[in-house]
Formats: sequence, C-alpha cells, structure tokens
Amino acid sequence: MRICAGCFKVEDWKNRFKLEQKKICSCSFCGKKTKTVDFSVFLSPLQLLLSLFSKNEKGESVIQLIGRDFAIFSNDEVAKRILQCVVQLSGNGFSIKDKVSYSTEVSSALTAWKKMKKDVIEEFRYFPSINPEDELWDKYFASKFAVIKKGSVFFRGRINEDANKLYKKKKELGMPPREKARAGRVNPYGIPCLYLTDMPDTTIYELRATHGDKLSVGKFIVKENLNIVDFNYKPLLLDDIYEGEEKLIETVREFLLKKQIGQDLSKPIHRYDVKEIEYVPTQYICEYIKTSGADGVMFNSAVHHGGKNLVLFKSDKVRCTCVKVKTVDEPVMRFC
Ligand SMILES: [Zn+2]
Repeated sequence: MRICAGCFKVEDWKNRFKLEQKKICSCSFCGKKTKTVDFSVFLSPLQLLLSLFSKNEKGESVIQLIGRDFAIFSNDEVAKRILQCVVQLSGNGFSIKDKVSYSTEVSSALTAWKKMKKDVIEEFRYFPSINPEDELWDKYFASKFAVIKKGSVFFRGRINEDANKLYKKKKELGMPPREKARAGRVNPYGIPCLYLTDMPDTTIYELRATHGDKLSVGKFIVKENLNIVDFNYKPLLLDDIYEGEEKLIETVREFLLKKQIGQDLSKPIHRYDVKEIEYVPTQYICEYIKTSGADGVMFNSAVHHGGKNLVLFKSDKVRCTCVKVKTVDEPVMRFC
C-alpha cells in the first residue's frame, strides 16, 4: 500500500515524506495520483497510537477521537480508510466500528484532576489530598512554559457604567487594584490578575457586552518575553511516537489534562448565576503555576470562537499603549 502527503493534515506527519523514497502512483487511501511512500513507514507509529485506546461502550469511535484531539488526517473518509487498515493489522481488541476511550494509564491524570476538584470544594480547601507533584503535574505546569514573544499585542476591555465618565486613560485599563479584584477562574478575591485577550472583538464577548454598551478597549504590548502555561497545547505526536510508548503516553496525558483544565478555565461566567466556589479548583492550579514562576496562563475563549484569553499574574511585563472607546452597535439577536 502507498500513501501520499495529502492524506495528512499536520506538518510533522507530512514532513516525514521528505525522508522517504517516493514513487508516483495512486494513493491507496485518497486515490490521487501523486508522489507516494510505502505505507509501512506510518504503520508502526499508528499502531502505537491505537494502543492508547481500549474498547468502551460509553466512548466514541477511534476516528472521532483521533480526529477531534489530534486532527492527523486530511478528512474523515481518509481517516476511516487508514485507521481501518491499521486496526485490522493490529489486533487491539476493537474494530473501527467499536466505541473506545483512552486507556486508564492515559486518562489517570484526568481522574486525579476530577478528584482534586471535588476535594478543594468539599473536603480540604487549602491542603487537598492530591498534591500536584504526586501526579508529576510539576512536569506539565512548573517546568515547561510556552513563550509569548516581546512585541506581541493583547487587549483589555472595560464596560463604561457612566456614559459621562468614560475610561480613557491607559492606567484605567490596567490591572484592578487589590480592593476591587473580584474572584475569577484564575484568581481568588483580593488577588488581582490582568485579564487580556488576543483580539479586540474577544473582549466584547468576554465582557458579555450588549447593544448600546460603551466599551473602553486598551491595546497592550508585551515588553519582554512571557513564560506562560498554554492550555491550548496540541501535541504533534509523531516525534513522541518515535521516542517510544512511555513518551507518547506522557504527552497524551499532558494534552488531555491541559485540555480539560483549559475547558474548566474557559467555562462561560454568566453575570449572576455562578457561585464563586466553582472557581476554586482552577484558582488552585493557577496559583500552583504562579508559584512555579510563570507569568500567566492562556486558554481558549468559550464565548468567541478562535479567541484566546491571556491572564497575567503581574502587569509589569506589558504596557498599555492606547485606549479606544467603542459603542457596541450590533444587536445581540436579529429576527427576520
Ligand atoms: Zn492520499
């Protein structure tokens, strides 16, 4: 069987083609006549990847899971043909039609996070029975930072409650003073953080601004490189696979844990109906990250598709360069 680079979506899998002997013929999986390599190049990496899953009636198909979490293949049909072939040759105890989930070894970090959430809310607020270090979380959160480069641009918005007294000064868009720092998913009450977004529009959604609201939006420049924990981390996998099963399991555990905490961090906060107690687990993990020397955390916006939130523990590495005032002129809903 032969496979072409077009069957893959991610770069590291495509790049593997550069190292191999190519032949022009029809791809066995997408049918396109193009440069192809022998499929055996990818067989053992994919077999190792499939070994992370086991049959589970409450799970999803392996095509759905790999598609959603790693998006390795160019489309679902190609994914189905490739994975069907690998499943048949592997003997993992499930077929392409079966529902599967991650093996216990991979998902144990998620179980630990679930237990910690319950613990800090219901049992031990400040000394939960699971220490992050027990689960080697220090490896994911305390020693492995993503870097946001000097010169990057972010935004912070505030809704003007008084139309006659608009926030126009740069310092008014900065970090709130300690006495005004409300609790959020990253910080507890009284310990301020600087909540930024990567796009001006994301601030409108994150503030739940509605038609007619006057917004002040400040533009912030990063003055020096920022070390952050990025909960949007998405592994490329192929390099990890070549390093062996242990490394692959560790990478996928880290990915799943960060994805889950990222989702918990980005859960929409409605103005009135969230109890502050629900913030405690993510506040706990963010404080752990803060003690490890990181400048902040980054996670997806749940209310603005494609937008990201950056929350900094201190504001000394960014500078507000200008402030613009905008009236939200789009109605929230339109009916025809
Ligand atoms: Zn192909």
